[in-house]
Formats: sequence, C-alpha cells, structure tokens
Amino acid sequence: MNPMEDKPAGSPIDRKPGGEFNHTAAGPDLGLGSAQTAGAAGSRRSFPNQGESIAAILDVIRRGERFLVCSHSRPDGDAVGSMLATGMLLQQMGKRADLVTADRIPNIYRELPGAEGIRCAMRVHGPYDAVIMLECDSLDRTRLRGLEAFFVVNIDHHSTGREFANLNWIDREGASVGELVYRLAKAAGATVTPEMATCLYTTVLTDTGGFCYGNTQASTFELARELTLAGADPLRIAQEVYFSTATSKLLLLGAALSNLKRDGRLAWLWITHQDMVRSCAAEEDCEGIVNYAICIAGVEAAAFLRELPERTIRLSLRSKGRVDVAAIAARLGGGGHENAAGVTLEGPLHRALDEILVELRPQVAEIAEKPGDGRSGDRR
Ligand code: 5GP
Ligand code: MN
Repeated sequence: MNPMEDKPAGSPIDRKPGGEFNHTAAGPDLGLGSAQTAGAAGSRRSFPNQGESIAAILDVIRRGERFLVCSHSRPDGDAVGSMLATGMLLQQMGKRADLVTADRIPNIYRELPGAEGIRCAMRVHGPYDAVIMLECDSLDRTRLRGLEAFFVVNIDHHSTGREFANLNWIDREGASVGELVYRLAKAAGATVTPEMATCLYTTVLTDTGGFCYGNTQASTFELARELTLAGADPLRIAQEVYFSTATSKLLLLGAALSNLKRDGRLAWLWITHQDMVRSCAAEEDCEGIVNYAICIAGVEAAAFLRELPERTIRLSLRSKGRVDVAAIAARLGGGGHENAAGVTLEGPLHRALDEILVELRPQVAEIAEKPGDGRSGDRR
C-alpha cells in the first residue's frame, strides 16, 4: 500500500448507477454528499485561507481513486507543467490520473517528463471521482466536453479567476498554478522528484516571462531555488523553452512585424490565416509574438490579433503595468492577469481591431494625462 494513502478501510466513495459517484460524508463537509453537477446545480465551496483550501483538496484526493486532470485549451507552459506535476502527485498518493487536453502540447513542452502521457481529446468519459481543473475560469475554457457530470476542483491564479467549481482555490498572488501545485504537494508530504521539479520550474519560468512580469516577487525566486535544489535544471529548461524555436515561428514573426503599428503608448500587430498558411506555422508559433509590441520603449499596452481558420480572432493583450488588460479582456468575455490577458473575438480582423482599440485608447490616454508622469515621451 502506498505510504501516503490514508484512506480509511472501505471506500468512502460509492459507485452509483450511471457512472456517477456519491461521496459519503466523512471529514469536513465539502458538499460531497450527493451527485454533483459542476458549474450548475452542484454546491460550490471556497475557503477563506490557503490551509483550509489545501486540506479540502487533499481530502477530495484521498477519498477518491481515479481523477481527471485538465487545463485550458491551447495549453501553455503553466498548463502543461502543472498538469504533469499534478499527475505525478496523484500517482505518489496511489491514485489513477488521466491527463487530457483539447489541443496538442506545443513542441517546446514535449520533452517535459511524462508529456507523452497527456491525451488529446474533445470529450472525456468517466468514471472519475473528481476533475482537477488547472488555470480555468469555467468548464468551457477547457474546450472539453463531458465535464458536467463530475465534481470539479478548480485551482487557479488568474486575477479574473472565478469560483465556478464545486471546490475552488484561487490564489491571485501565485506566480503560476504550478506554484499552487507545489504547495499542495508539500502539504501532502509528497516527494518533489527531479521530474516534478522540472515541470514546476517550467510553469514558473514561463508564466513570469523568464522572471520579468509583475507576478515575480521574492517568493518566486525562493520557489525557483527550491525547485532547482529538488533537481530542476534551469539551463536545460531555458534552452528547451527559449532556444528551441521552430523556423516557421520566425517566418510568422516576420509577417507579424510587417504589420506592426504604433500610436503613442499603444502598439499592435496581427497575422492573417493566410500568413499562417504561408509560414507553415502551427498554433504554438503564435506564442510570444505580442511581446514584440509591448517591448517597444514608451508603449504601455499592446495587442496581437490572429485570424483563426473559422474567421474568429484570437486576441493577446499585454501591459507594462499601468493598464489592467485583464479587466479589458474580461469585459470582452475573456480573462487573464493584469499584465497579460486574452480573449476570442468575432471577426473579421478589422472589426476585432476596432473593438480592442476602442477599449485601449481611453486607458492609455488616462496615463498620458496623469500629472507628474515622469516617463519619457513616445520614441519611435
Ligand atoms: P495569451 O495571450 O498568452 O494567450 O494569454 C495570456 C493570459 O490570459 C494567460 O494567463 C491566459 O490563461 C489568459 N487568457 C488568454 N485567453 C483567455 C480567454 O479566452 N479566457 C480567459 N479566461 N483567459 C484567457
Ligand atoms: Mn498560469
């Protein structure tokens, strides 16, 4: 028997007809007493502090046997790394974990330990005792179907995070969701193996933009130190993430840069579906292109628009800290962090561009009008 498993004799989970589960009451009342419908009729719980949130999540894990771990569509480094680390934690606790995403794993994360075990699917099939959902503000954000039937645990760190699930732990101070998974693992008494440390370090590195974004604080370096001591190799991971660029990405970047526009403290750039086809680019080649607009001196907010094959538009927003782009994205139906956010808009491209510029212009104008703004003017 796994030493970490402290499940009492006799499963506390009774299988119900129809593949549903009924968690019988024991320990804190998590609202597990009846079949759950996440995001709809099921009970929703959150706790006022981290300790209770972690205890409640560990309780759900200890009482279950089989779990689904998933994250948002178009997974990024935090999504992939935190899913893998959660899978490893569950395994150490003697549980079964299925890791599923709606979209393929980007090449730069394919070398992460266990990445080959993540399954790509459009629909999930149980039975699962619970779904552990990382980085999502809704079931829809996963783009997976079939989740409604299960008890959902939501672990998130976005400023626009929502308590949509049956059990919610949202820590907006976390540098990555991986940081929260690390705390969960420590609280569970799990061993942070070199493989787990590698996955978690990747989440921190990528979500802080290489320790550059606003979510980087002293504790972030402490976490990076602990993960390095546990066996993560910062040099190797940085090489995988930042020095393994596909040629198609640079060709796509060329197309995007030829569409770069600057207006005072705003910059934006875009690519059409034609650009994607011409560059033989994949979805993942778009990641980071927005940074070439926000990196311009004097620019405070930037947008990157990408035309999808079905003509909807993916929008990435970035800010240097004086414009809350999460609030803008949330108004348009998306979400994210104050410095980095995104949303899918209706096409065509010029309409989506107008829509976002209408939102951004007054925000940057407000900065310009602030008295005593000692920042340098626009340099072009
Ligand atoms: P990116 O621009 O890199 O795709 O996303 C930046 C941040 O915004 C990430 O933290 C990402 O999770 C979040 N984000 C991007 N698109 C969406 C969206 O459509 N909905 C929500 N809720 N968050 C998003
Ligand atoms: Mn994240």
